[in-house]
Amino acid sequence: MSDRNLTLFDRAKAVIPGGVNSPVRAFKAVGGTPRFITRAQGAYLWDANGQRYIDYIGSWGPMILGHGHPEVLRAVQAAVQEGLSFGAPTEREIELVEEILRLVPSLEMVRLVNSGTEAGMSAIRLARGATGRPKIIKFEGCYHGHADALLVKAGSGLATFGHPTSAGVPPEVVQHTLVLEYNNVEQLEAAFAEHGAQIAALMIEPIAGNMNFVRASVPFMRRCRELCSQHGALLVFDEVMTGFRVALGGAQSLYAQAIPGFAPDMTVLGKVIGGGMPLAAFGGKRAVMEQLAPLGPVYQAGTLSGNPVATACGLATLRLIQQPGFFDALAARTRALVQGLQAEANRAGVPFSADCEGGMFGFFFLSELPRNYVQVMASDAARFNRFFHGMLQRGVYLAPALYEAGFVSAAHTDADIEATLTAARAVLAELT
Ligand SMILES: *Cc1c(COP(=O)(O)O)cnc(C)c1O
Repeated sequence: MSDRNLTLFDRAKAVIPGGVNSPVRAFKAVGGTPRFITRAQGAYLWDANGQRYIDYIGSWGPMILGHGHPEVLRAVQAAVQEGLSFGAPTEREIELVEEILRLVPSLEMVRLVNSGTEAGMSAIRLARGATGRPKIIKFEGCYHGHADALLVKAGSGLATFGHPTSAGVPPEVVQHTLVLEYNNVEQLEAAFAEHGAQIAALMIEPIAGNMNFVRASVPFMRRCRELCSQHGALLVFDEVMTGFRVALGGAQSLYAQAIPGFAPDMTVLGKVIGGGMPLAAFGGKRAVMEQLAPLGPVYQAGTLSGNPVATACGLATLRLIQQPGFFDALAARTRALVQGLQAEANRAGVPFSADCEGGMFGFFFLSELPRNYVQVMASDAARFNRFFHGMLQRGVYLAPALYEAGFVSAAHTDADIEATLTAARAVLAELT
């Protein structure tokens, strides 16, 4: 049988760089042919050959209800009938923002944008504008979108300024970005001791999903909060992935349970808040947010921001995830998957560790959970790639890179988890 994925990939490569519109889709880390998706429903995707997959990517996080939820589709179809875009304010934008404010108590005002990249970039500009300071702290392994100042890797040595991770970013553009090791309190303290008065913001993924799944420890997060407060820097939570995904109130609600009075100063959101449409947001305290144009001196804008179809999709999604027991059921199913994978790996004698929170999970071919980027990257890539392809062949679609998190949706059933574990048993047995 001819492989239509391969045919399409060849055709795509002739006209789209690498054949894809976002690099990780190209399967470069794992090799092989990316699956061209023709449709999706519930927990499943179908590729161009008509093969069905249990989907653990969920469009990289947004599809928390599963694909094609009827109420979401109804809301989107109704919005489409009313108009695709107006470039003028709508009531639905207020409704969506009011919904977000109800669910995330640290936020007093929110602005809507189109992508997580845009939200992260705007949050940094606002933090710099509001504090009048130039420097930002980020952590190695955290991804905050592809704005120039955030495409940075650690320099050599302690608390040095980073180097661009992409061509096309002049070193001067990242000269104010300090890159530190995740979960390293000593480096954090040294950076504030040296540069405290210059630091506008510390930006962090509270559970780092862009190094698969690494939690910021409670003592580390407590120190981030204390040092930001002490030095007048803004603590910016990048919850593009974790927001409305690890818990209804995001990862910040989990840290608030462990650290009395804990709240970030600003939050960046995306993925789930759009329910699969291009929508993201950033928000914080009123005094900071009022620095934005048209009220204040920090410029930020967008032709399609607050788009009426995207906000309809996001609003329907956010309402549905508030049903009683939604997150408990999602977390239980995700835990069943992760514990099942661990049990199968143990049975096969394969070094393995895994973690999850709400509907987000990660697993590593490492005997202990990693705490930072260097430890994540020590994970066995060859073994991961064989596991990935074995699972894919058996109809289980996992993220095609060992540094990407996985997602379970409300549409995944116990039978889907069972089928996934049966596939994993067969694949793991071949890995030793
Ligand atoms: C996905 C992601 C982004 C970027 O969002 P895009 O919509 O892809 O631009 C930023 N931060 C985090 C934590 C993300 O997971």
